[in-house]
Amino acid sequence: EVRVRFAPSPTGPLHIGGVRTALYNYLLARKLGGKMLLRIEDTDQNRFVPGAEQYILEALAWCGIVIDEGQGVGGPHGPYKQSERKPMYKQYADQLIAAGHAYYAFDTAEELDAMRARLQAAKVPNPQYNSITRAQMRNSLTLPEDEVKALLDGGAQYVVRLKVPRKEEIRFQDLIRGWVVVHSSAVDDKVLMKSDGMPTYHLANIVDDHLMEISHVIRGEEWLPSAPLHVLLYRYLGWESTMPQFAHLPLLLKPDGTGKLSKRDGDRLGFPVFPLEWHGTDAETGEATVSRGYREDGYLPEALVNFLAFLGWNPGTQQEIFSMDELIQAFSIERVSKSPAKFDQNKVKWFNEHYLRAKSNAELAPYLLTALHEHAIVCSQEKAEQIVGVMKERVSFPNDFWQEAKYFFQAPTEYDEAVVSKKWNAPVATALTAYAQALPTAPEVTAEGLKTLFNDTMAAQGLKPGQVLQALRVAVTGAAAGPDLFETLVILGVPEVAERLHTAVA
Ligand code: GLU
Repeated sequence: EVRVRFAPSPTGPLHIGGVRTALYNYLLARKLGGKMLLRIEDTDQNRFVPGAEQYILEALAWCGIVIDEGQGVGGPHGPYKQSERKPMYKQYADQLIAAGHAYYAFDTAEELDAMRARLQAAKVPNPQYNSITRAQMRNSLTLPEDEVKALLDGGAQYVVRLKVPRKEEIRFQDLIRGWVVVHSSAVDDKVLMKSDGMPTYHLANIVDDHLMEISHVIRGEEWLPSAPLHVLLYRYLGWESTMPQFAHLPLLLKPDGTGKLSKRDGDRLGFPVFPLEWHGTDAETGEATVSRGYREDGYLPEALVNFLAFLGWNPGTQQEIFSMDELIQAFSIERVSKSPAKFDQNKVKWFNEHYLRAKSNAELAPYLLTALHEHAIVCSQEKAEQIVGVMKERVSFPNDFWQEAKYFFQAPTEYDEAVVSKKWNAPVATALTAYAQALPTAPEVTAEGLKTLFNDTMAAQGLKPGQVLQALRVAVTGAAAGPDLFETLVILGVPEVAERLHTAVA
């Protein structure tokens, strides 16, 4: 059975890279008829941030990523939050110690610092606690057995470390990268558990993936260096035959390709890197901060999902627009790339425009109505639908409707300078007055009807429609460009148009 999991740590808002990881897990689960799990990895209590877990749940729900089992949903393998699973981990640390694959280490922080300083002085490039250095440290491999027992009985502080072999090739197959081979000398004796029984990420992650029967671990490239250690843990715990398959997703780069897209880039580069707005505090000043979110910036979840799907994957065809269901059909791990994906904020906007325009006027009207309500302007559903209908080709975000469509509710007080200086003259003003007078006689108030009336009126004035059209638009809306002009006049209604024309000419 295919069982995948998204396993975020609640250390702050979910970064867009995390959302992509969740999405790819979800797509694979759905594609293969499996289950999508959500596990909260909060063993590092120092990095715990209140509100982060709720944020994760809300963000996934907003994106349409449905959790089948796990935190917030429940299931047969719970609890799904590691801090609530604390008593489950000790037996596995004990098992590793009993089998000689892990050991107690009693070194103090000062002793560890001194060791690192010694190695640095000796110009060792990558100081580690490993098969060589552990011999000089205070641990259950170097101390006499009775001393170890006395220390443990006396309640000494300790950690449990994995005993990484000195010379061994650790290999595993990554579904995206193929065979990964790492020499054990590059892996240090990672801490698995502290005296207080709290496991580290590594132990908890492997124990939970095993107990939760995870079949595929799909996660970001930053976890690739941890994978050899995880492979050793599966082996030493006797779980190698059911070890999940690994897939490490490509890095996300800044738009200019100069490095990894970080949590801080959004605010600096002027676009959101979080799905939802995040209210936090500045680590240095302690002041309240707000980081932008896609939801609040007016992005539609369908657009964000479609965009994220393409950050590291492509269908191998020209098709770019995919609904969630279509993504599920088309998705495969084989088509995930191992080269980094550059974040392109214009592309996500392009997707947003597409999804916005695909919505019906009835679906879009509420966005305009909400803004109107805030400005204490009354408008019928029907009129709001007409307005978003003519405006939707011209806006990128639902939040733009009000800004772009203001003139439907407020007569212009300023007129586009360039048009006024080029197209406005006495005959044009006279023609506009004639049109204002003719309007109440229009046989039918439709775009076609008002256009015919306009053409006829201009002909009677001895002018070509093209000589006056732009002036008409500016006189009525103030702006040099906008949606179909005669549709606009219909929505405004004859009395309002006539009044605006008289005002402009006066
Ligand atoms: N807790 C890790 C994270 O925050 C999970 C890594 C993994 O998926 O193994 O990304």
